[in-house]
Amino acid sequence: MTARPARAARAVAVLDDRVDGDPHQPDRPGWDCRCCEQPWPCAPAKVRLGEAYAADRLGLAIYMGGLYEQALTELRTCPCGDVFTRFVAWTR
Ligand SMILES: [Zn+2]
Repeated sequence: MTARPARAARAVAVLDDRVDGDPHQPDRPGWDCRCCEQPWPCAPAKVRLGEAYAADRLGLAIYMGGLYEQALTELRTCPCGDVFTRFVAWTR
């Protein structure tokens, strides 16, 4: 196994900890929110993740990059740039 899939798997494994108690969780492999059925991360999930990482925007971007890698393998019909915008670009 290469490092990249391992990082993606770790990011998914700790997802519950990052959005602890939040009903706005991704329903994989479609990556829509289980609560509001919007593409995840939905607006409430972004707020929760932003709060969890506070001022550590780089940490949030790295974490979302891991989820982005996992989502790319599962959302095979989505253009790569759209998935990047959805998962990583908003963290700036
Ligand atoms: Zn939601």
